[in-house]
Amino acid sequence: MNAEIISVGTELLLGETINTDAAAVAQLLSEYGINVYWQTVVGDNRVRLEHAVNVAKERSDIIITTGGLGPTCDDLTKEVVAEAFGKKLVLNEAEEARLRGLYAERHTYMTENHLQQVYLPEGCTVLVNDWGTAPACAFEAEGCLVIMLPGPPLECGPLLEHRVRPLLDARSDSLILSHNVRMFGIGEGTMEYYLRDLMNEMTNPTLAPYAKEGECLVRITAKAATKDEAEALIAPWVEKISRQFAPFAYSVDAENIEDYAMRRLIASGKTAAVAESITGGLVGDQMTNTPGASSAFLGGMIVYTDEIKNRLLGVDADVLREHGAVSREVAVQMAERVREKFGADIGISLTGLAGPGDDGVHTVGTVFVALAVEGATYVRRLYKDKWGRERIKHAAANHAFDMLRRYLDDLPVEIDEENQ
Ligand code: ATP
Repeated sequence: MNAEIISVGTELLLGETINTDAAAVAQLLSEYGINVYWQTVVGDNRVRLEHAVNVAKERSDIIITTGGLGPTCDDLTKEVVAEAFGKKLVLNEAEEARLRGLYAERHTYMTENHLQQVYLPEGCTVLVNDWGTAPACAFEAEGCLVIMLPGPPLECGPLLEHRVRPLLDARSDSLILSHNVRMFGIGEGTMEYYLRDLMNEMTNPTLAPYAKEGECLVRITAKAATKDEAEALIAPWVEKISRQFAPFAYSVDAENIEDYAMRRLIASGKTAAVAESITGGLVGDQMTNTPGASSAFLGGMIVYTDEIKNRLLGVDADVLREHGAVSREVAVQMAERVREKFGADIGISLTGLAGPGDDGVHTVGTVFVALAVEGATYVRRLYKDKWGRERIKHAAANHAFDMLRRYLDDLPVEIDEENQ
C-alpha cells in the first residue's frame, strides 16, 4: 500500500507555518509499513487542490489530507475531495447537534457558516473530533481510502492517534514497532561506523541511525503480526546495542537527556542545586520540565558577573582574578558553593565563553561544567568553537545533565574535550 499526504493551506506554502501535520501523518503511516511516496502542499485554491486530489487518486491507495475543514470560505477541502470522488456533501445531524452543543456550552452565538463544518461526504465514517469543532472523516471510493483531518496540530495529532490508528489497525495484518536507543557524547558518524555491517545485514528488525541536536539514536524497527512478537524481535538488539555503546547509551525511548537525568535524580531521592553563568538559567528551566522535579531540584542561582559570583555565591575573589571566570577552578568553586548554600546532595555549575567576542584568554566555546558531591567534584572542559551562542548554551546544559545521569548511574563523569 502506498499513501499520499495532501496538506492544504496557503500559510504552509508561504513558510509561515511549518508542516508538522505531514510529519505526524507520515510517522504514523511508517509504523504500519505504509510507504508515503508523495507529500503535496497546496494553497487554499480550488483549482490547484482539485488537481492535487485527481493526481493523488491515480497513484495512491491512501490519501490523507490535512487542513481546510473549518467554517470559512477558504476551507475547501471536503467540497473539493468529495467532488473529485463523485460524492455529495450532506448535513450530518449528529455532528450538527454536537457543534450546536459546543457553542451553547461556551455561551457563544454560532453564525450559520459554522454549519459548513458538519456537511460531510455521503456515506463517510465520521472521525469525531473531541479536540476541536470540525469533524474529520474517512471514506473509500475508487479503490482509495481517503481520510480528511483538520489543520491545527492540537486536533490533527490526537485524531491520528485515537481515530486514524484504529482504522489502520483494522486493515493491517502486521504492525511495525520501533524502539530508540538514545546516546549522548558520541557523534552519529562514529556510531554509524560501528554499526554499519550490522545495519547492512539486518532485515527484521532493521537498524537506522538518527542525529538530533547534540545527541544521536539508533532506531530498531521490527515488523510482526503482534506487538508481543515485534517486542521479542527488538529486545535482544536493544540490549546488545545498549551494551556495545555504554556509557554513551543512556536510555531506551526517553524524551531527551535532561528528562532522563531528572527522572534518575528524582528516583534516587537525592537533591540538586545549580549555579549558572553561561547558561543564564537554562539548566534550572530544563530541570523544572520533568513532573515531580520539586522533590529533587532545590533551586539555582544565575551568577553572571564576577562580582556576583563572589558576593552572592562566595567564589573567592583571588581565584576569579587569578584564573578568570571561565576556568576549572571557578567552576569547581561554583558547584561546591551552590551545593553548600542550598544544602543539596549535588551542586552543578556552568561557566564559559559563548562569544562571539573572546576575553583575550579563552577560545569562544570554552565551557567548564562541574558537579560537586560529598567528597568529590567532577569537571568537564568542552570546546564548542563556532557553534553560536544559543547552541553553545544548549550543549553546555546537555553536558550538565549527562554528568548528572552518569554520576547517578555510577559511570565515569569527566570528559576533557582538549584531550579527545
Ligand atoms: P480550523 O477549524 O481551525 O479552520 P482547518 O482544518 O480549516 O481548521 P486550517 O484553517 O487549514 O485548518 O488551519 C488552521 C491552523 O492550523 C493554521 O493557521 C495553522 O496554524 C495550522 N495548520 C494547518 N495546517 C497545518 C499543518 N499541515 N501543519 C501544522 N500546522 C498546520
